[in-house]
Amino acid sequence: MKGIRKILLPWIMIIIFLSILFILYNRMEENYLDMGEDAPLPDDLHPLVEEKKDILLEQAEAIDIDVVITDKTRSIDEQNELYEQGRSASGNIVTNAKGGESYHNYGLAIDYALLDNNGDIHWDIQYDGTDSGESDWFEVAELAKDLGFEWGGDWNRFPDYPHLQMDFGLSIDQLQRGMRPAPEDHDEADK
Ligand SMILES: [Zn+2]
Repeated sequence: MKGIRKILLPWIMIIIFLSILFILYNRMEENYLDMGEDAPLPDDLHPLVEEKKDILLEQAEAIDIDVVITDKTRSIDEQNELYEQGRSASGNIVTNAKGGESYHNYGLAIDYALLDNNGDIHWDIQYDGTDSGESDWFEVAELAKDLGFEWGGDWNRFPDYPHLQMDFGLSIDQLQRGMRPAPEDHDEADK
């Protein structure tokens, strides 16, 4: 009996050690929830994105730039419809993302545009209404980036100037597999 115990003891130690490592690793990765393939898509923006969007609007208003949010969360169908624009449907191509491939589908992205003096939407990214030397559009992008957004205008391959997103470290692939930002991220991403 003593012999068996001697052989087992190191193995038990190794198993305990690996279990502790496993638990610690999972703690580290707890910035997302794995909700599985059938994870529902949110109808609304993630609370942090919503909060930062409101702050962005306030900050833009404070420097006399009228920002309008033109798009928030999109359903799979809405995304697919947008994808067909400029392809099977008329208009210009505005996205390379099919349904499920956009951060809009997960409540993690918004699109913005500017309002002119008449309150009409305009998409002129060069317009400098504040005479700051930098276009209003880019000024808003800078504010958004300071709030933690990634700006689509910085993308080399397919610049998307109205687009702002927060990915919480999750790729589209991970989101499609059912991973979602954990609620705790509310404070963590608040830097
Ligand atoms: Zn967008």
